Amino acid sequence: MNINRGYLNLKDRYLFSTISQKVREYRAQHQGREIISLGIGDVTLPLAPAVVTAMQQAVAEMGRAETFRGYGEEQGYAFLRQAICRYYAAKGVDLAESEVFVGDGAKSDLGNILDIFSVENTVLIQDPVYPVYVDTNIMAGRRIEFLNGTAENGFLPLPSAELSGDIIYLCSPNNPTGAVYKKEQLQAWVDWALERGAVILFDSAYEAFIQDPELPTTIYEIPGAKECAIEFCSFSKTAGFTGVRCGYTVVPQALVRDGVSLNALWLRRQTTKFNGVSYIVQRGAEAAFSEEGLRQNRAAIGYYMENARIIAEALNRLGIWFTGGRNAPYIWLQCPGGMDSWEFFNLLLDSCGVVGTPGAGFGRNGEGFFRLTAFGRREDVLRALERMQTAVF
Ligand code: PLP
Repeated sequence: MNINRGYLNLKDRYLFSTISQKVREYRAQHQGREIISLGIGDVTLPLAPAVVTAMQQAVAEMGRAETFRGYGEEQGYAFLRQAICRYYAAKGVDLAESEVFVGDGAKSDLGNILDIFSVENTVLIQDPVYPVYVDTNIMAGRRIEFLNGTAENGFLPLPSAELSGDIIYLCSPNNPTGAVYKKEQLQAWVDWALERGAVILFDSAYEAFIQDPELPTTIYEIPGAKECAIEFCSFSKTAGFTGVRCGYTVVPQALVRDGVSLNALWLRRQTTKFNGVSYIVQRGAEAAFSEEGLRQNRAAIGYYMENARIIAEALNRLGIWFTGGRNAPYIWLQCPGGMDSWEFFNLLLDSCGVVGTPGAGFGRNGEGFFRLTAFGRREDVLRALERMQTAVF
């Protein structure tokens, strides 16, 4: 018996446990002093009323013999897949229902999609980025190469003629940097992938936060993307579903590698290893895409983006360099005075009881940077900034 030794190659990701430990120590030493977190990557506003009503109705249906439902379709109920297709149609992107797969969130699908690719493939991953892409490939034993995101390239690495790789992850808007690829930049990636027969795994979990109308909210706005890209999205940040769990993955019918349809492979994988998302949750997700649900969720996103604007304005006033905050709920700042990420973390915590996320936890290129999020309550954001302005800068 041999275990999967890929797991032994994982670095212990001490990031969030180290943060919790430091916060616990601080609390013990400063009894009664309030801590404000600008580090959370989780939403704080409740579900939209349209979503709550839809889920309550679905619960009632499940409690009556005439409307009770057992196992659903593995790929997702048609009503939700149709709602997702309409959402894309409003962006000018035509999808067939068969190209949409409903799942329990983007994280699972981002990890599970690797089932359909050989371990022989080389994977390209942005650095810094959401750590799940790296860890899931280490578990599988794939070769990883990093694409350097730096202040110079706005944390948006681009392909070069010499670059080679088989699977490439792009996260736009990016967690943690908040940077968003422009259409011509995504076109460069699509052209690169088509030329080499590579596959782009495009994570658009934060697409609903994009405010500038000229920025692409889906990779399928780019000509040729249906022949080379799989897109992952989620209701987590768009509709406050982090605790409800629902997402969707688009695998176009036109995406063929080794003479095999990736849509067919993913369907086979899902029907074998996945039994679908609960009916109640799918009704809630459908309601999130109703006219009323979209309006209510846009208001929640507007609230978070106003937080982001307030944080960005404060950093501008203080002359701190940052990206993000305009089309993403993340603000990625350069630690002042050449401090490293953890030094700045300690300074913020010790001098003003404010918690953020050290950039070093998102990859080598994150060192010297720091992530603030816009998901907090307004009064907390304002108080945290006030403390930071007097104590730190
Ligand atoms: N992709 C990115 C870039 C994220 O930041 C997150 C969550 O923080 C996810 C995917 C996972 O989302 P979900 O809650 O749908 O699993």
